[in-house]
Amino acid sequence: MPNMDRRTFTLTTLGAMLGVSAAATGRNGAMAATKETFPVTRTPEEWKKALTPEQYYVLREHGTERAGTSPLDKNYAPGKYVCAGCDQELYLSDNKFDSGTGWPSFYQAASEGSVGTSTDKSWFMTRTEVHCSRCGGHLGHVFDDGPQPTGKRHCINGVALKFVPKAGS
Ligand SMILES: [Zn+2]
Repeated sequence: MPNMDRRTFTLTTLGAMLGVSAAATGRNGAMAATKETFPVTRTPEEWKKALTPEQYYVLREHGTERAGTSPLDKNYAPGKYVCAGCDQELYLSDNKFDSGTGWPSFYQAASEGSVGTSTDKSWFMTRTEVHCSRCGGHLGHVFDDGPQPTGKRHCINGVALKFVPKAGS
């Protein structure tokens, strides 16, 4: 049945093309970040149910929120910032500073193991991508122009974070 064969071939080819393009690029053209595995894994459908569209875009598709849109950018209340995807503690108010960029900025993560990094070569730049070490959710990027004591600037999408005020404050 030549017709049948042709049809099978076409569908397979189409599937392969879709599969490749979906895996290779996010909505902003970012390359798929890592092949790391994480303690918390969900299918895209499960993440879509658990997250708002903005959270999904940033955390799962490596999107970037518009500068100055996060209420957490100018939040300096004492407390901690947890992952909007899995609630892991990521950053502390003690390490937050005003970078003037319009994104919440920290000079270090809450602890050594809270975040992981990968090399991001999208947009014709080489940048250090930073993500939650528990669910792999994309948070933002790390730059080398931060304040002491680390000299690092973790430039984080506020939508990827949830603020938990310190008890009693
Ligand atoms: Zn997470």
